[in-house]
Amino acid sequence: MKYVKIERNGQPCWGVVKEDSVHTLKGDPYKTLEYDGGSYELSSCKLLAPCDATKVVCVGKNYAEHAREMGGEAPGFPVLFIKAPNTINAPEGAVHAPGFVSRLDYEGELAVVVKRRAKDVKAKDFADYVLGYTCLNDVTARDIQQHDGQWSRGKSMDGFCPVGPWVVSELDPGALALTTRLNGKTVQQGNTADFITAVPQLIEFITAAMTLEPGDVIATGTPAGIGPMVPGDAVEVEIEGIGVLKNQII
Ligand code: MG
Repeated sequence: MKYVKIERNGQPCWGVVKEDSVHTLKGDPYKTLEYDGGSYELSSCKLLAPCDATKVVCVGKNYAEHAREMGGEAPGFPVLFIKAPNTINAPEGAVHAPGFVSRLDYEGELAVVVKRRAKDVKAKDFADYVLGYTCLNDVTARDIQQHDGQWSRGKSMDGFCPVGPWVVSELDPGALALTTRLNGKTVQQGNTADFITAVPQLIEFITAAMTLEPGDVIATGTPAGIGPMVPGDAVEVEIEGIGVLKNQII
């Protein structure tokens, strides 16, 4: 299944993509799917971020090579931080670079969208709690992150978390190629097979500490190759089996 959230009559509406059409749902896709009879051409739809995040739980340094480029070794456990809900941005939404930020970085990542309330989930049961997978850009004001000595301001500015274009279920998150392109040039190339902590174990680790709600998002960490973006740039995050998330910096 490929779940999208579109804007219909000014309101968000969930749907399922079948070929080139979006078949709209009565509610959300977290429990039982109930179609409302609506059908729209995908190309005519305005896509919204396919999640209902009360929080985005992010993993820092989940690829050893990225940990090294940040000047250290990978920690022996997942280091978590939160992006606040104000960061959620649409597929093709513009990312505003505030004037006081001198270095704005892309971080292409695989995102997990949570299907049902999850607390104390065992790794072997992780799939029961996952709606599916999508692309995410963990936009980071690197200079602010370093200046502040902790990450809240640098990671949680408005619109700093584009998510989409859709959520794909029935996908094995264990070996997906991930590519980030800046103005068409490849800048990051990774594979989720290289995760230090894989998705099932991440879900066990996170839910031992905090409850995940339906529509919450887990950002699983970025591969090596992070770098800066400036207004006018276009950044794409492409993940095998999902598609392309493309955003403009303004
Ligand atoms: Mg990140």
